[in-house]
Amino acid sequence: MELKNFMEKLVMEKLDIVINANPSMCNCQRCRYDVAALALNSLPTRYVATSSGATYTKINSLDQQFHVDIISAITQAIRLVKKNPHH
Ligand SMILES: [Zn+2]
Repeated sequence: MELKNFMEKLVMEKLDIVINANPSMCNCQRCRYDVAALALNSLPTRYVATSSGATYTKINSLDQQFHVDIISAITQAIRLVKKNPHH
């Protein structure tokens, strides 16, 4: 068994889509991880206990529930990183 923060998985899945929709955003790994970290800090942490792919259905339904929050958290994080890039 292990514990996973599925919010992290959902943010990483949506990161590309939102960054690609913001062409002025730097797409290097450093900035992408800064965006992911900022977005995750502003979202609730949601741990699931997982042993196999059995949690997948659960994650999918939670994806629906948090979809709008995640997109807006990433959008907000992009704005911050663009204003203050670490390089
Ligand atoms: Zn960059």
